[in-house]
Amino acid sequence: LLSNAPIPKTPTPLYPSPLRANATLLMLCRNEELDGVLSSVRQVEEKFNQNYAYPWTFLNDVPFDDNFKTGVLNLLGPAADVSFGLIPPEMWKQPSWINETRAAAGRDKLVAEDVIYGASVSYRNMCRFNSGFFYRHELLLPYRYYWRIEPDVDYFCDLQYDPFAFMEDNNKTYGFTMSLREYELTIATLWESVREFMDLYPQFIHPNSAMRFLSWNGGVTYNLCHFWSNFEIADMDFWRGEAYSTFFDFLESKGGFYYERWGDAPVHSIAVALFAPKESVHFFYDIGYRHADFQHCPSGNAWSAGRCACDPKDTFDKYSDSCTYNFLRVQSS
Ligand code: GDP
Ligand code: MN
Repeated sequence: LLSNAPIPKTPTPLYPSPLRANATLLMLCRNEELDGVLSSVRQVEEKFNQNYAYPWTFLNDVPFDDNFKTGVLNLLGPAADVSFGLIPPEMWKQPSWINETRAAAGRDKLVAEDVIYGASVSYRNMCRFNSGFFYRHELLLPYRYYWRIEPDVDYFCDLQYDPFAFMEDNNKTYGFTMSLREYELTIATLWESVREFMDLYPQFIHPNSAMRFLSWNGGVTYNLCHFWSNFEIADMDFWRGEAYSTFFDFLESKGGFYYERWGDAPVHSIAVALFAPKESVHFFYDIGYRHADFQHCPSGNAWSAGRCACDPKDTFDKYSDSCTYNFLRVQSS
């Protein structure tokens, strides 16, 4: 247990005015996931969005069917602002210039090592889309901030303020709730590519970055720490900016989304920790959240004021597999 690092101050002001930020609740999902979609949407509405009425955007690589749309619209009600989007194939499918023989060999290698989703091309499509394309989808272009929500997650606490307004008012780029270590085999050559990128484009490295979050030996190796991207509240202007656009194109050219299984979580996290000032990254300590296998549950005032339905002793950030205290130490030093 690593429990004596500082807990970040959480915002106290209430932001009562609706739609203060230019933001959307965003879910990428499949028609078959309707149960989990409705469970997540209901919790986000009840714990937060019923007070703000931020629009929802749903994205899918195939058209949403009537059953899906009826379920969502019934839950959100006739007044809700909801969009159902289709992802164009060039943002989703394995590009034709990827060498399929090499990609298949890369999948076999991960399967042989029992790596989760090792055989899955669709999982790789999803990771690449979340890394480099969602913020360029036509339905997302009007927005600056998004909150990424997945099917079947849990939100434990009432949120006492508008996190989008908080992001904007405090110049935050990226917000997370949990952080952990990546499976090394999925990103075997990612850090090599990142180092090459840093040599080519030193101008993109922020002088006050959280680079030390990523490496314990001055950048020689990656410590596999990343923010868990199934929860993200972030500023898409960062993804759309020159540093990240150049970075994504560089990674894309390496083919590692298909030859390995590069995840959007390490890709996002590495970029945030290199190109953004460390103060612009925010640990949403007060947002109680669960995604399969792990949960974050706040303690103290955040827990009582939020009427959280989780045991504060059961929180992943206290365990050594979490990178959150590593991040907090880097941020505060
Ligand atoms: P994990 O969290 O890494 O285990 O991956 P998930 O299976 O939860 O996928 C991450 C997100 O992408 C979830 O919101 C899924 O609903 C979504 N997703 C994953 N694969 C696909 C796919 O093939 N099509 C669509 N439309 N969504 C997908
Ligand atoms: Mn998931």
